[in-house]
Amino acid sequence: MTDSAMLTRDPLHAVPRVWGEPCEIAPGLFMYPAFVNTYALKTPAGLLLVDPGFGHASDTIRDAVRAWSDAPLHTAVYTHGHVDHAFGLRAFLAAGERPQIVAQENCLARFHRYELTHGWNARINQRQFSLPEPIFPKHFDWPTLTFRDALTQRFGSLDVHYHAAKGETDDACWAWVPERGYLFTGDLIIWQAPNCGNPQKVQRYPAEWADALDDMAGCGAEWLFPGHGLAVHGREAVCTVLTETSRYLRVIIDQVLERMNAGQTPEEIFHAVEPDAELATRPYLAPNYDHPKFIVRNLLRLWGGWWNGNAADLLPATWEAQAAEVAALAGGVGALVARGRALLQEDDSKLAAHCAEWATRAAPANRAAQELKRDVYQRRLTEESSLMAQGIYRAAMNDARAALREQPERVQRLAMGWKE
Ligand SMILES: [Zn+2]
Repeated sequence: MTDSAMLTRDPLHAVPRVWGEPCEIAPGLFMYPAFVNTYALKTPAGLLLVDPGFGHASDTIRDAVRAWSDAPLHTAVYTHGHVDHAFGLRAFLAAGERPQIVAQENCLARFHRYELTHGWNARINQRQFSLPEPIFPKHFDWPTLTFRDALTQRFGSLDVHYHAAKGETDDACWAWVPERGYLFTGDLIIWQAPNCGNPQKVQRYPAEWADALDDMAGCGAEWLFPGHGLAVHGREAVCTVLTETSRYLRVIIDQVLERMNAGQTPEEIFHAVEPDAELATRPYLAPNYDHPKFIVRNLLRLWGGWWNGNAADLLPATWEAQAAEVAALAGGVGALVARGRALLQEDDSKLAAHCAEWATRAAPANRAAQELKRDVYQRRLTEESSLMAQGIYRAAMNDARAALREQPERVQRLAMGWKE
């Protein structure tokens, strides 16, 4: 039970992973780590399922849980309404089980928004995860018991406390079982730098996220069970992961606030703010999914307007008109492409990308321009560790490949799996 590769007592030196063998990870608690973690807790009243997982994994998860215990499913809780957490109940329901489904009340509005913006979300996920086609769920197993701030559910003699939070989403719910010392964090802990910057998704909440982490640290839990990644055992180890993740966020938040209040422009703030260098090296805070600079953008969106500080961008000329102007000034698209190639040679791929965008927008049918764009984003892709950045660069590269009538590059299997 205790030598699972999905459990650590030493998070500072642990090797993060998100896939592992399903097993009883702690007394009376089954863990199914299939990119996202599903948990089943034995209670005197039946099973409590924490995060049923993906829809496509529903049968496998139910089989694994049922091989471990045949106690009736009393309750399922969604730690939030994301696709990788709240869509795996189908197999249990199809087998005739009728659990209470607990969620923070904003989960309902989330599902309604998913219905309203299905095509948009499907395309975001296709781009973010380099999927062959747009994909997003259309069927929802709606919560049956929602709460606003907090809820205590009694399972015979065992109490489970649910707490509302905001962080990756506005419908986060973390669960605390004091009698066992078990803390279920949902995606408030994911063994990655916090996912609160995503450039393609709705508003996220870094400050409330840090507050929730501090609240959880106050529980004094012996065990931490995250939405993704390793379970953590030991009061001090749990406290370290929670408080350092909180501090990682606050270091970014404080810099943004100070600079906003000093009157800096969004672009100045974006370029100036950096995460804490030491915390950024922690195994549970690596920026391989989201990117700290994206967190800066999210805070600027939260506390500011959408204007970027450049008056020309307020009511701008089209990108195509701007690109045509730049190309004309440069002496033609050929000059822009040549300059882009030179920048790429000098390893300044950021500036080279601007040249590629001007060149392809000024002359979409120009092969040399599209080849530059393809090669620039191929390079950007290898330079960034953030999966979100990679997904967008790969999509841009594939747009150029399509213009050149070349095959798009797809990802066979993502190291991260895919989440929201
Ligand atoms: Zn997740």
